[in-house]
Formats: sequence, structure tokens, C-alpha cells
Amino acid sequence: MAKVIALANQKGGVGKTTTAINLAASVALLGKKVLLIDADPQANATSGLGFDINLDGIYECIVGQKRAEEVIQHCSDVKKLWLLPSSINLVAADTELPNMENAHHIIKSIVDSVRDAYDYVFIDCSPSLGFTTVNILTAADSVLVPVQCEYLALEGLSKLLNTIKMVKGRLNPELQIEGFVLTMYMRNRLNNQVVSEVREHFGDLAYETIIQRNIRLGEAPSHGKPVMLYDASATGSVNYLNLAREFLKRNRKK
Ligand code: ADP
Ligand code: MG
Repeated sequence: MAKVIALANQKGGVGKTTTAINLAASVALLGKKVLLIDADPQANATSGLGFDINLDGIYECIVGQKRAEEVIQHCSDVKKLWLLPSSINLVAADTELPNMENAHHIIKSIVDSVRDAYDYVFIDCSPSLGFTTVNILTAADSVLVPVQCEYLALEGLSKLLNTIKMVKGRLNPELQIEGFVLTMYMRNRLNNQVVSEVREHFGDLAYETIIQRNIRLGEAPSHGKPVMLYDASATGSVNYLNLAREFLKRNRKK
């Protein structure tokens, strides 16, 4: 039965989607069966893997028009990777979910309906801590937090950590923090300072692998591919494959 990992940070542009696509693809290339659920109405994970952003997806599952297995797409480039797409329709979820029966557990029941078929399920969240994100945290076993190497990187994380604590207390007592991944690193004093701050603050929860800033990571989504299928020798490919190895190693130990 799959472990379910939410990629969350209410700040936009920190590398959630880039990490979701490339970590999911790397874990699949390393031999695990992986489902990536796009749960952001911007549908960047959907388009970044080369799929149409008008497909039926997570929203149609939420409102009960479709079952997850009917909308899941196989990513032909990566044998063991599947996508549950998103679309702009999902913007309505934050206002519609609260009125539904068993409101906090809608996404959990969608995820639970398919998790038997995979080793890992990654969920790419939108940059918000709204009702949909809380639903995702209720469905997840753990949260992986991408943190951009920039000034005030830790600012705002306390809000996310409080939300995780609230969900753990009221909705999902088993929820864990998978870790913190530093993204968009450049070799300079400010970035090095952020790296030490995050490591000091979060200890072992900070991943050793750091994702460097790499132009190929920005280009790959416009080709509808994970970076390692677009340019296998790019720094971004090497970084995300290493992140996947570290992720799998940490999950073996537990
Ligand atoms: P989020 O999902 O948190 O909003 P994204 O993953 O979409 O963030 O990243 C924001 C932007 O930064 C995107 O244009 C993406 O291509 C780019 N980006 C993300 N990570 C890197 C990186 N390591 N190097 C270069 N560009 C990156
Ligand atoms: Mg995103």
C-alpha cells in the first residue's frame, strides 16, 4: 500500500511542482510504482508532464462525477509513473468542499481508492493553506516541504507547521513531516546562510541533497517531460535523482 506524500508550502514559486514532477519521475525510474496527483488548479504538474489541462481530473473526482481510476493517465515516457491530472475547475473546491458530507475526508477517500496500486503517491499542492490543502494533509502520511534558498526562507514556514500541527491534532494523528528540501540553490553567501539556517533549525529533517538552480529545470516542463528525460546530464537531473535516492533510503530505514 502506497505511502502518500504531500508537497506543500503556501508560498508560491518555491519549487513544489518542479520537485513533485522530478522526484516522482526519479522514484519511478528507480523502480517504484508512482502516482503523482496534481492538486493545484494551475495544473502545472499536468502540463509539465505533457498532458492537456482540460482533462477530467481531481475536481471531477471530488464532486463525484468520476472515479480516480477513470481519470488517471499513464506517463508514457516513464514506465512506472502515472498522473491524476488537475484543471482550473479545481478553483471551486475550496468553496464547495466544506459543504460536502464528510468534508474533510473527500480527498482521502479518493487517494485511498487507488493507493493499493502504487508504492508512492505524491500530491502537488497549490500555494495555499485553504480547505483543499487541509483535505490533502488529511489524506497524506507525510509532508515534504520545498524551501527556496532565498532571504527570509524560514519566514512563513511557521504558518505551514501550525497547519500541520492542527491537522495532526484534529484530523490525521499519523501525519509526519517527511522533510525539507532546499531548492534553487546558487553558490553565494546568502544561499549558504539559508542552507545553514534550515539545517540548524530542522536538523535531520533537512535533506542532504540540495537542488541547485538549473535552467533545464525551467525548460523541461515546456517539453512536457521530467528533466531527466529532457537532458539527462543536466545538474537538475542529477540533483533530483540524488534526492530520490535519499528519499528511498530514508524510507527504507523507517
Ligand atoms: P511552485 O510549484 O512552488 O509554485 P515551481 O516548481 O512551479 O514552484 O517553480 C517556480 C518557477 O521556478 C518555475 O518557473 C520553475 O520552472 C522554476 N524553478 C523551480 N526550481 C528551479 C530550479 N532548481 N532551477 C531553476 N528554475 C527552477
Ligand atoms: Mg506549483
